[in-house]
Amino acid sequence: MYEDLHDKTAVVTGSSKGLGASIAQRLGAEGMNIVVNYHTDEEGARATIRAIEDAGGAGTAIQADVSSEAGIQALRDHALSSFGGIDVWVNNAGVESEMPSDERTVEEWQRVIDVNLTGVFIGSRCAVRHFLEFGMSGVVINLSSVHEAIPWPHFADYAASKAGVGMLTKTLALEYADRGIRVNAIAPGAMNTPINAAKFADPKALASTEKLVPMHRIGEPEDVAAAAAWLASEQAKYVTGITLYVDGGMTLYPGFQYGEG
Ligand code: NAD
Repeated sequence: MYEDLHDKTAVVTGSSKGLGASIAQRLGAEGMNIVVNYHTDEEGARATIRAIEDAGGAGTAIQADVSSEAGIQALRDHALSSFGGIDVWVNNAGVESEMPSDERTVEEWQRVIDVNLTGVFIGSRCAVRHFLEFGMSGVVINLSSVHEAIPWPHFADYAASKAGVGMLTKTLALEYADRGIRVNAIAPGAMNTPINAAKFADPKALASTEKLVPMHRIGEPEDVAAAAAWLASEQAKYVTGITLYVDGGMTLYPGFQYGEG
């Protein structure tokens, strides 16, 4: 547990399910106030709030599209009116779609970039502006992916957006380090969340993914939430501009694991 997080406020985008819900719940367990953001799944957001409250935190939900400036502004306003401030901003919302690149339309490319990269920029900018206005040493955490580093055929926009998140994170970290603002990214590998539910329900697909993970298992949302809590806390006060891989070793070139290559 991180005592310094107690009574602070976090905004977690896309937290009606999956990694966002788990991060919101974990930060709630640290005694934080959480703004739970959902896009369409209001019931999921309510479930996240119940989990936060059961864990000892406080939560409130707000619908917003993180790819729009108005949506991000609504999140900020809701955090201020509900809890009086923002200390931690987690840009978690993300989308993906599978399609050969030669068939992908500009509209579909743009949809993914708008949520995964532009949304992270607008959210980070909003948080940084707030921290600067109040002279605060706040924290931004961006959800990247192993595909920040690993190319992913049929997911070109997703991989490009996550590589962009990695460089955006480093650049913002450098730009605001002297103001005490920390900006870091977490890059999950293959995690057990709804985005992967259909794939991992198929034993063959699950086994083929597990082969790509040196630890030979997919990760749990709590593994990512634990990394987020640490990065948010004072325990990570000298850490900025990193991408923290939470991937069971997936980025370690698993093909070389048993002497191949
Ligand atoms: P998920 O699909 O379960 O959840 C994504 C959330 O983002 C949903 O709640 C969705 O409603 C929300 N969202 C989508 N578009 C939005 C918008 N325009 N405005 C607001 N919210 C929006 O996915 P997840 O697995 O929990 O992934 C969370 C993050 O972690 C994403 O950025 C994803 O790319 C990243 N990630 C996930 C994995 C994995 O294996 N699950 C691996 C690497 C990276």
